[in-house]
Amino acid sequence: MLSEHDVVEAVRQHIVERGDPPPMDLPATARITWHSLLEGKVVRCIEDRTEHERFHAGHIDLSGRTQYDSLGQHPHDATASLTDAKTVKLVRRGSVKEQACACGSGKVQCPRCMGDGKVSCAPSTTCADCPDAEPCLLCHGTGNRTREPSRDQEQARTGRTTCKLCGGLETACPACRGHGKTTCPTCQGKGSRPCPDCDRAGTLPHKRCAGTGHTVTWTEGIIDRQPQTEDIRWPDAGVSFVARQQAREKGRWSKVTLVDREAVPDGLETEFKKLLLPHLKPSDGEIARKATVRYLPLARVAVSHHSHRVYYVFPGHTALEVLPLPSPRRTWQIAGVVLAALAALYLLVHLIS
Ligand SMILES: [Zn+2]
Ligand SMILES: [Zn+2]
Ligand SMILES: [Zn+2]
Ligand SMILES: [Zn+2]
Ligand SMILES: [Zn+2]
Repeated sequence: MLSEHDVVEAVRQHIVERGDPPPMDLPATARITWHSLLEGKVVRCIEDRTEHERFHAGHIDLSGRTQYDSLGQHPHDATASLTDAKTVKLVRRGSVKEQACACGSGKVQCPRCMGDGKVSCAPSTTCADCPDAEPCLLCHGTGNRTREPSRDQEQARTGRTTCKLCGGLETACPACRGHGKTTCPTCQGKGSRPCPDCDRAGTLPHKRCAGTGHTVTWTEGIIDRQPQTEDIRWPDAGVSFVARQQAREKGRWSKVTLVDREAVPDGLETEFKKLLLPHLKPSDGEIARKATVRYLPLARVAVSHHSHRVYYVFPGHTALEVLPLPSPRRTWQIAGVVLAALAALYLLVHLIS
């Protein structure tokens, strides 16, 4: 235990060793602030157990999965590392049901072609080259010459070809050769084409059973484990970085490792116990825990005669360690001096250039 008396005595001795005159009224003028450093981590294994109804289209082999009767009562897997994430899928005993699908064969009639395997398709389309003009100046696409071409149409003969229907020379549209229509390239004029949905089959695989004609249902239990690490660093603020670093290097820390619900040892410092206990509260779903924590009492001493300094005192490996650091006021003074020097340098550089 670190007592106020020991702390003040260590500071006094430190001042003497530095060659400074020791303040005679040190105990009265020393202001001690106690800081307790607590560091370490608590690793927990959090487990979650859930049950779901499962459905599988087709056949599935569940024989390799562990079965359970009551998920809550199912024992923990002792072989699994408690700090590794792991998900196990189990099957409730007696819940597996293999069934033939209502479709029977795994296939259903294609709704697009109603089982025909083909869909209708227009055998021909209006000729794109003569939609507004005459397909043939003599027969108008009928094959029967109804009139001679008019004078205007005589001029329109340019670029025309022989009519396939009536044989008129230079009277027909070259694209459709008098027909006024072109044969559908998709069905080649047959009037139907293969159904694009079922590719001629007339049937489609049944979605529910994925075309197998078979389904399996069962109750699945999932045991999910996730490690959860809580890093402890107390206090968050208020202790200078250098003091903390030095305490880490030179301090004689009290250490404790607690596994699962292991009780805090009796000999532990009261302050250590007080800081540690809140971190040992069991979390929801916690099935295992390992706490690795260390503690070091730390005193911050301000002495009114030495206001430019503060002293950090903590137990070292052989004796109390005393770490003098510039006081916050002193730090600001130094920062001020540095800033002033920088400003002077800036001015100098600008005067020269
Ligand atoms: Zn089916
Ligand atoms: Zn079809
Ligand atoms: Zn067609
Ligand atoms: Zn014609
Ligand atoms: Zn045409």
